[in-house]
Amino acid sequence: MSRYFSDRYASLVPYVPGEQPQDRRYLKLNTNEAPFPPSPGVLAAVAEESGRLQLYSDPDARALRAKMAETYGVTPDRVVLSNGSDEVLNFAFMAFASDDRPLVFPDITYGFYPVFAELNRLPYTEIPAKDDLSIDPADYLGGGKKTVVIANPNAPTGLFLPLSEIERIVKDNDGVVIVDEAYVDFGGESAVPLTDKYDNLLVVGTFSKSRSMAGARLGFGIGSPDLIRDLNTIRNSTNPYNVNRMTLAAGVAALTDAAYYRDNCKKIEAAREKTAAELTALGFTVIPSKANFLFAKHPAIGGKQLYLTLKDRGILIRHFDKPRIADYNRITVGTNEQMDTLIGAIRKILNETGGQK
Ligand code: PMP
Repeated sequence: MSRYFSDRYASLVPYVPGEQPQDRRYLKLNTNEAPFPPSPGVLAAVAEESGRLQLYSDPDARALRAKMAETYGVTPDRVVLSNGSDEVLNFAFMAFASDDRPLVFPDITYGFYPVFAELNRLPYTEIPAKDDLSIDPADYLGGGKKTVVIANPNAPTGLFLPLSEIERIVKDNDGVVIVDEAYVDFGGESAVPLTDKYDNLLVVGTFSKSRSMAGARLGFGIGSPDLIRDLNTIRNSTNPYNVNRMTLAAGVAALTDAAYYRDNCKKIEAAREKTAAELTALGFTVIPSKANFLFAKHPAIGGKQLYLTLKDRGILIRHFDKPRIADYNRITVGTNEQMDTLIGAIRKILNETGGQK
């Protein structure tokens, strides 16, 4: 820390992204990226748009917002775009949480939420998930002014709360309920249709997972026109050109090529179910997932040990050194071939450590 670093941020502990090592080629199953490349239409759109990089991007992102509106069955004034969904989450925390409307989210969830809260000096409470790591919707009821944040499906568990439960939470709260749907396209059900009915519901989504665009950084928020106007006030006070030209063009092309991505999601869902069954057969406890990852633990090998041993053998998965979940690992679901490699490596490790049931 330099002696110039502001006191405001001196105690900030930044979010730690999953490893992106450059030292060797790994089978990367640690950051929930898609194993499939973007569609040919996306590649062509990016190549074409790159010839116009001398021009700023459209700060109103009209073309992509119109396409989003068509895709999600809303009007364009109900869509805001962001540089990855992390950005719109930060904007939403800034816009809607305050001392009067403190943040509430589960203790086991996306690790960026407490960081955004700290960054913006917002009060927050982490509500313990149940022993099986599921969220009890009742913990988020009781009215009052609070800003609820729920990832659905949740991360890193993959557990999905039915929409009826989300609706109960939205109905019961006087603050904004932010539903982070980063993983909803792998078998969940989106709450976007509920944004018609409730002006305190903000749904956040991303192109990083189901649309193979993690490196392009494209996220979005969908809510009432008033909520979106507030988010634009923050966005236009931060960086009106927050989404670059190539990414805007890629977004339109990705929505046009919906069938390609739907197909990819189906493949990942099938690989997830197959991998979950194989891990269970090897003695793992596997949490039922509606995301493109699995959260699993084994009675004979610690989470950290399995992570380190796999890393040594060229396979990266994600271990969180955190209370309650240190026994687990989060495994991104890739192609069937990638999952076969993973299962083969795990079987070998369990044999070596005498851990196979
Ligand atoms: N929400 C959740 C629950 C996530 O796991 C992630 C991915 N790390 C994000 C949001 C942010 O993704 P992105 O910024 O790439 O859209």
